Amino acid sequence: MQILYIRYLAARPLDEVQCVAQTRHRARCTAKMLTPDSLQGIWTLVPATAAQGQLALPAEVMAMYDLSSLPYAEQLRWRTQRCREHAAAPTAGDLALTDWEPFDPFVHRAYVCPRLPTDMRRPRHGGGGTEAGW
Ligand SMILES: [Zn+2]
Repeated sequence: MQILYIRYLAARPLDEVQCVAQTRHRARCTAKMLTPDSLQGIWTLVPATAAQGQLALPAEVMAMYDLSSLPYAEQLRWRTQRCREHAAAPTAGDLALTDWEPFDPFVHRAYVCPRLPTDMRRPRHGGGGTEAGW
């Protein structure tokens, strides 16, 4: 995915990426980053490079979840991997490392997919009971 013009490989599917902050109960926050009411990025096909504007072989494209159209604060929230509540509470420490690794088209070749995802997975309805209705 692309956050603030830098490309990252996520360690898990985007709908499983979870807030890294520590709650008052000293447990890791269980809030997911991708929620029905959060601003959505755009799946797009881009040249398989580590950054925008770099040269790539013409045939090499990859599917990427692009957050570039989102407000800066929202992209920063993704980069620091915090839910809304914890993005607004900077004193809460991080209990886990973020899932982002700078994307390298050579090292991460196995993850380069030249097609957009067909099953645009959306957060499940009902399951958690905390989601606003869609
Ligand atoms: Zn949180």
